[in-house]
Amino acid sequence: MAELCFACTDREYAVPVVNVTCTICKKTVSWREAVKHYAEHGKRSGDNVACPLCGAKVKSREYRRHVRMHFVKRRERGYMCGVCGRSFITLRSLLVHIQKMHE
Ligand SMILES: [Zn+2]
Ligand SMILES: [Zn+2]
Ligand SMILES: [Zn+2]
Repeated sequence: MAELCFACTDREYAVPVVNVTCTICKKTVSWREAVKHYAEHGKRSGDNVACPLCGAKVKSREYRRHVRMHFVKRRERGYMCGVCGRSFITLRSLLVHIQKMHE
């Protein structure tokens, strides 16, 4: 079992695992729902949601994108998915991938 934790380890992504351990609640989460699961830990207060990964207060309509951005890894050429390690040329295509595959 690998831990998805970008804050406290230098692990860049959790391959080749199918399940990851949530660093917040320690539940086993499917790779396919990792980003969704993390997003659900956000605490709402009024129009803002507190990001469980960095603590930032984010407007609720920007919150999902904000959480996705935590799983974006920059590469010299393009971007890499922080959950499964796939590479993408553009940030936009990576964000679509995260939304489809990990939420
Ligand atoms: Zn959790
Ligand atoms: Zn955050
Ligand atoms: Zn991915």
